[in-house]
Amino acid sequence: MDLIDNQQHEQNRLEPCPGTLYLVATPIGNLGDLSPRAISLLKKVSLVACEDTRKSGKLLKIINSKVPLLSYHKHNLKSRLVQLLQILEENGSIALISDAGLPGISDPGEELVKASRKNNHEVICIPGACAATTALVISGLESQRFCFEGFLPKKESIRKKRLKDISEEKRTTVIYESPHQLLKLLEELSTFCGKERPISVARELTKIYEESITKTIQELIEFYKANKPKGEFTLVLGGNMKDRIKDEVSESEALNRLNSLIDKGEKSNIAARKVADETGYNKKWLYSKLHKKLDK
Ligand code: SAM
Repeated sequence: MDLIDNQQHEQNRLEPCPGTLYLVATPIGNLGDLSPRAISLLKKVSLVACEDTRKSGKLLKIINSKVPLLSYHKHNLKSRLVQLLQILEENGSIALISDAGLPGISDPGEELVKASRKNNHEVICIPGACAATTALVISGLESQRFCFEGFLPKKESIRKKRLKDISEEKRTTVIYESPHQLLKLLEELSTFCGKERPISVARELTKIYEESITKTIQELIEFYKANKPKGEFTLVLGGNMKDRIKDEVSESEALNRLNSLIDKGEKSNIAARKVADETGYNKKWLYSKLHKKLDK
């Protein structure tokens, strides 16, 4: 397949379309990840909406874009939504960018997209770097099925509930965290998910000191106690295998495993514990099944 055909060339040449909101991905560290299509749009739209005009101003300067910038962040969201929708209504085109990465992931982009769609404005994404998917695909953990948590809530009661949900999640979970909170989060994950759960910590993705370490939670706690966390971090937590195996191992299969251990001379309570650990079935339940069988 051709990388880019003539029709696509034409489409790119005609962009931006009037009255359209473009979600433009920007680099998460390496400027080389800004795509030619993103550069072209950032030079041609009517307005660039961004979280921090100082940060994004630097990016526009590098690509020599003279397009005006307007701040759009969680503190001015409501008033800005009205303003931005008005621009789209008047057939202007807007590029929404975040401080880094894909707008709409852990930033207020979602609200603008919802409002634009509700008002029948076209929304188009110019894809590119995203810390979550970048960390996931290099983690070595399962990437076929995953979920994204972003930053965990700060409020203690809601945070505990979220941590409990995460500990039970069977799919790989991606979490964002700041460097000074990293150890606290690893300790919390250890409490909720156990010390042995595999986890990958990706640091400074796409930058010179990029690093991705996949170990157990406990090993990474020790690592980051010895090496002060610096830079930007994305965590990729392995799913809860225990429950997953339970879903995949039938009751009769679990009982077969139990009987086979006992046939090999294992004590019944130890066999029940081993099979419970392996399959996620309750140890008492397994033990009771065994005794029913022995009583017969
Ligand atoms: N929209 C962005 C995206 O697509 O990835 C995410 C924005 S979120 C406000 C910022 C968080 O993303 C950081 O606190 C960090 O957890 C993660 N992050 C951003 N850049 C990163 C990088 N280069 N390496 C690792 N994590 C990064």
